[in-house]
Amino acid sequence: MTIRWGLIGASNIAREYVIDAIRAEGGEIAAVMSSNPERGAAYARENGIPLAFANLDDLLSADIDAVYISTTNELHLEQALAAARAGKHILCEKPLALSSNDARKMVVAASIANVVLATNHHLRNAGAHRAMREAIRAGAIGKPVAARVFHSVYLPEHLQGWRLKDPAAGGGVVLDITVHDADTLRFVLGHDPIEISAFTQAAGMAASGLEDGAMCIWRFKSGLIAQSHEGFTTKFAETGFEVHGTEGSLIASDVMTQKPVGSVILRTAIGEEELPLERESLYGRALGAFHAAIRGEGQPAATGEDGVWSLACAEAALQSARTGRAVKIEPGVRVRT
Ligand code: NDP
Repeated sequence: MTIRWGLIGASNIAREYVIDAIRAEGGEIAAVMSSNPERGAAYARENGIPLAFANLDDLLSADIDAVYISTTNELHLEQALAAARAGKHILCEKPLALSSNDARKMVVAASIANVVLATNHHLRNAGAHRAMREAIRAGAIGKPVAARVFHSVYLPEHLQGWRLKDPAAGGGVVLDITVHDADTLRFVLGHDPIEISAFTQAAGMAASGLEDGAMCIWRFKSGLIAQSHEGFTTKFAETGFEVHGTEGSLIASDVMTQKPVGSVILRTAIGEEELPLERESLYGRALGAFHAAIRGEGQPAATGEDGVWSLACAEAALQSARTGRAVKIEPGVRVRT
């Protein structure tokens, strides 16, 4: 069965990555919805999409099985609830909503409607992060005790809009990048964080009280501590992810990215070895798992529950930055998806 998609939002991320990934994984894009009819029609034309709608009800009434929500963050909640009510499977961009409580409502709605809800946390699909997770599970570094995430980038000019100046749209680097780091840490370590302490900054690009840089310190259930750096302002920084254990270290370079690039070194008493990595598209892998989940074969790569978790972490980071105190991470009860 070919899965027919409706895009909610004529977005950059859909154009750059997700449209191709849906098609590469055998899906068909039937329609796009944009709040601006002219831009929507142009977007449909440019991307070979047969139908463009200017309102959500029309899109949800079309012959589609699933929606991809990639509007600005304040719109995800209502759009996802409407899609669930219409019985459509939902791939939603991160952050799922502006609060973890709202994200939880989405998980509950999807569960009641018996549709698949996934969060587009692409990084857990990277060969590098999967290799690190497997090495840790296999005991290659002994007991993991510390992790460091380097995820400060320079926000490309064409994305320098709502992320930097619109708090109502869910701008700021924490909702944009810290959520990804939360998910990647949880995925690679196989443990949940319990507490976070954060400093944020406005280093010259963000406005309206938003932050464009953050440094977080995390404590995990296992006792591991981690640090992460997220930023929009660092033109010359590199990304990376390290996990240090009692018997070895995993040192990954250039892996906090949208492309299947980078490397992972395993360093132990024996010496150094570069781990072999699969170089599959991160978004393609997410779409493959999502299509399979619709067919009843397994879970999406990142579930709605994973999206609640990453947002609860981001919320706690923002609260910590505001109050100057460490904050417990409490995503609340788990709901079957
Ligand atoms: P965009 O700014 O490209 O799109 C967001 C919305 O802005 C669209 O829904 C569209 O509204 C409107 N818009 C787009 N282009 C224009 C324009 N030229 N003029 C006026 N309005 C415009 O956002 P992104 O693609 O960067 O992000 C969308 C979502 O995806 C966010 O939730 C973000 O966090 C997430 N994201 C996730 C990534 C990942 O790898 N998982 C990477 C990047 C983003 P309309 O719908 O009305 O047409």
